[in-house]
Amino acid sequence: MNKRTYVYILGASHSGSTLLALLLNGHPDIATVGETDPDGRIDAQGYRCSCGEVLKACPFWQEVAQRMRARHSRFSLDHFGTSLRCRRAPLANRMLRLEHRGSAAEAVRDAMLSLSPGWRRSKPDILRTCRDLAETVLEITGARVFVDSSKRAHRLKFLLDLPDADVKVIRIVRDGRAVALTYMDQDAFADAADPRRRRGGLGPDAPATRTVLTAQQAAAEWMRYIRSEEHLLQRLAPDQWRQIRYEQLCDDPAATLEGLFHFIGVAPNTYEPDFRRAAHHIIGNGMRLDATSAIHCDQRWRQALNAEDRRQLILIAGKALRQLGYA
Ligand SMILES: [Zn+2]
Repeated sequence: MNKRTYVYILGASHSGSTLLALLLNGHPDIATVGETDPDGRIDAQGYRCSCGEVLKACPFWQEVAQRMRARHSRFSLDHFGTSLRCRRAPLANRMLRLEHRGSAAEAVRDAMLSLSPGWRRSKPDILRTCRDLAETVLEITGARVFVDSSKRAHRLKFLLDLPDADVKVIRIVRDGRAVALTYMDQDAFADAADPRRRRGGLGPDAPATRTVLTAQQAAAEWMRYIRSEEHLLQRLAPDQWRQIRYEQLCDDPAATLEGLFHFIGVAPNTYEPDFRRAAHHIIGNGMRLDATSAIHCDQRWRQALNAEDRRQLILIAGKALRQLGYA
């Protein structure tokens, strides 16, 4: 069996990964369903697919479920079985949730996980389910490259062991001040433009999906993601990953995508500006439910953050912002 190209989008939450997934999905050889670990989010209350339909009623997802059940009898749209979790081994479960850290800390994590019989049993099964989800989506769409926009570095650490896969990584970075603002007020700055489509598509009366953070907490959270990504990238060969900026993607999507298509190994001249014209069935940020294909660079932090918030952000994240070329 030839190795499949499995592209993983790595980045802090609210850095543009869902936009990037939608744009990549416009390429005929690429297919994505956005994030591949939605367990706990798709519940009976009606999480919406990017096509606008309640996910469980979306014909695409029903077909995915039917085909997946032929491979994994316990697969359901409530429970994909793709979470890197080990319910019956609480210690292993805690280890699995930790952000990716330096090589010494990761060696300790690996050693402890190797002592867990529950995790040793679960891991191959979870990875096969992840691989088969990708295969199923590729079968249905007729594409040959799968994109996973799960973002988190510690998930990628384990997906690097996916069977029969050539894993390539696109890191997307965004100005940490813009990202921090989304953690300070997710509803207003990081969800669907239409309030009725926010909070998973359930509307403003549904429970908030995230805790509101102060500027210091938001900066610290962004820094946790950035450090975790940087530790992970050190494990990769230089030709295994590319880095783009959210701002660059918005300012010149055609050129940015052309570079990525080349990196992924598909025809590089197939950018579709009206990216919502194609069918998308994506799990991810609330912008998946927006109606417009117009891409504009969200720079609202420049007005929305007060002087004290900015001072706190620079204090905590200034060095990383400079290293990434933002300050
Ligand atoms: Zn759908």
